[in-house]
Amino acid sequence: MSLHKFRTIYFKLAQSVTDMSDNESCLFCKIVRGEIPASIIFEDEFTMAFMDIFPISKGHCLLIPKQHYVNMLDVDTKIAKRLGVRLAELTRKVHSAFEPDGIINVIANGVGAGQEVPHLHVHVIPRNEGDRFGFMFPDDYREEMAPRDELDSVANIIRASTDLLGSK
Ligand code: AMP
Repeated sequence: MSLHKFRTIYFKLAQSVTDMSDNESCLFCKIVRGEIPASIIFEDEFTMAFMDIFPISKGHCLLIPKQHYVNMLDVDTKIAKRLGVRLAELTRKVHSAFEPDGIINVIANGVGAGQEVPHLHVHVIPRNEGDRFGFMFPDDYREEMAPRDELDSVANIIRASTDLLGSK
């Protein structure tokens, strides 16, 4: 493939990613603006909770910041705090509404983590025994505990790194 062709494809792809992340065309920004339908559970100045359109289980819903952030890697810290409080409320509400065996809160940060909609959202997913949903673990998972010095060393690396917004 020629360099020119490669660059053309690359920039087309980059453009489509930018478009997807842009407030104007972002699916969840459209929900916030009321341009597409959603079954809203609650909203306040900064956050909104609505039903997932493809629920994994009864009660599966999403919590988002109203302002456009792609995920936890770019979200404003103050907004993250508000989301945290609302997430606790939403999780408890779903729990008392349906009394599932458990509830899982999931955030996919980036395509590599399975994020499809590039607007930060937390899944609130009721879980029940035998519901066939879950994380997939490698076959050898938990065969051996990680050595403590290795865990300490990785913890040190994370502790010493700055977050993407520039604070320690
Ligand atoms: P994720 O893979 O973490 O990005 O999840 C995106 C979620 O958004 C999926 O569970 C979809 O079912 C859900 N979703 C996509 N479009 C809509 C929509 N218009 N209204 C509600 N949920 C949606």
